[in-house]
Amino acid sequence: MNHDKNVTATVGHLIDGKIVHDGGRTQPVFNPATGQSTVSVELASKATVEAAIASGEKAFPAWRNTPPLKRARIMGQLKVLLEQNADKIAAMITAEHGKVLADAHGELQRGIENVEFASYAPELLKGEHSRNVGPNIDSWSEFQALGVTAGITPFNFPAMVPLWMWPMAVACGNTFVLKPSERDPTSALFIAQLAQEAGLPPGVLNVVNGDKEAVDTLLHDPRVKAVSFVGSTPIAEYIYGEGCKSGKRVQALGGAKNHAVVMPDADISNAVTAMMGAAYGSCGERCMAVPLVVAVGDEVADQMIAGLSAEIAKMKVGPGTDNSNDMGPLITKPHFEKVKAYVDSGVEEGAKLLIDGRSLQVAGHEDGYFLGPCLFDNVRPGMKIYQEEIFGPVLGIVRVKTLQEAMDLINAHEYGNGTCIFTRDGEAARYFSDHILVGMVGINVPLPVPVAYHSFGGWKRSLFGDLHAYGPDAVRFYTKRKTITQRWPSAGVRDGAVFSFPSSR
Ligand code: NAD
Repeated sequence: MNHDKNVTATVGHLIDGKIVHDGGRTQPVFNPATGQSTVSVELASKATVEAAIASGEKAFPAWRNTPPLKRARIMGQLKVLLEQNADKIAAMITAEHGKVLADAHGELQRGIENVEFASYAPELLKGEHSRNVGPNIDSWSEFQALGVTAGITPFNFPAMVPLWMWPMAVACGNTFVLKPSERDPTSALFIAQLAQEAGLPPGVLNVVNGDKEAVDTLLHDPRVKAVSFVGSTPIAEYIYGEGCKSGKRVQALGGAKNHAVVMPDADISNAVTAMMGAAYGSCGERCMAVPLVVAVGDEVADQMIAGLSAEIAKMKVGPGTDNSNDMGPLITKPHFEKVKAYVDSGVEEGAKLLIDGRSLQVAGHEDGYFLGPCLFDNVRPGMKIYQEEIFGPVLGIVRVKTLQEAMDLINAHEYGNGTCIFTRDGEAARYFSDHILVGMVGINVPLPVPVAYHSFGGWKRSLFGDLHAYGPDAVRFYTKRKTITQRWPSAGVRDGAVFSFPSSR
């Protein structure tokens, strides 16, 4: 297909309050349900990104000094605009990502909750004060904005993940340069325009679309003080290393391989239903998706397989624009091929493919990137489909004999994003949550994604950096603590010089 002939829109950048087209490199954005592209995205040059950073730097002094309550009110107004435009934004997400509309609305709602939390900034930025830390000496800590901050986001939550980052960053008084995924850039840019409509001054939030050139400019420019990243582990590790070398504060969230442990005493029908959404929702393209069931005992494994097989037979796969579908397509043709190759490798390595979605055809959408749900039994550590993040609708059953064996597997895995346990045994659940080396744990909850007023982050190679995303950790990430100690000596009262270290002895 000649892409250029069919292009009806080119997604540019938002710099200093205006949509900018730099006329440089472009790349097609595909509709995964049709395999067609009518949109292209500009890939910002170094100069374009530098213009965005300069705009953020120019806007910073006035924005930093804007009272937090005024900044928060803009977040409140943005929440209203997002709710009013929810159908439009969900349609943008579905057209470029492929997920079913109801799922797109769910992601947007989670994003809106982060905007809502950012509107509490005046309360969250209140410092810590101590009177009389010494005779007539007071001391307090305050949390000051950093300056220009930046965010680089993945394709799988094109609206929500940007909203994890910039609303709190700007509510804390920073300016922000966002680099969304070039695979589905439209919704993030539109939301940034809504933020301006809500009252965000030009330059406080700039959006540059692009690829490695844009990212590397953000990573190496000394005017950028902090970088938030969400994406795959190899890139997260690169971002963390480069950003730290450049003296920036960095949080880089990476990939995942989440395990669900099903105990012999679990409510199996509940575990089956929960696992359907966790494994196949959003076509498995979630960092909190659960692609592995670790069944404790063969009886549990057989029951889970029977239940899952019956549910899979009822699943509807098709375009995300039809809300009666349970699952849409994968994001791109190369990703579709990659996921299919994982299924091939699972068969070659000796796992038992019980349900094979590789030959699925969706009538009227023959060029779409649709893969049917796949179910493997006898998945074992060491197999590629056990070790690596597939990011597709592929669920594997791992058979173990004890809870400890299940936990040892999870703890040995390179990723530690999310996990869950299905059980009726409180003692087992408590032992599991206490000893598992994973950042987010569910107990009879398959996708334990923390709400906006907690923070989100994995352990091990699922997160590089110290602070988690959004919630209270975001307030700390996007601010610097300053501690001020103050004394106003009374006129006429003078101490002699003191050479020993001041203390309260
Ligand atoms: P990705 O790593 O390919 O891309 C993420 C971002 O990095 C994009 O903006 C992209 O333009 C940029 N990028 C890609 N290659 C780059 C390079 N060589 N140099 C500099 N920048 C580069 O990730 P993706 O495929 O868009 O998203 C899926 C991945 O994100 C999965 O691994 C998933 O687990 C992960 N993810 C993690 C979380 C989390 O919170 N831990 C959340 C969502 C997604």
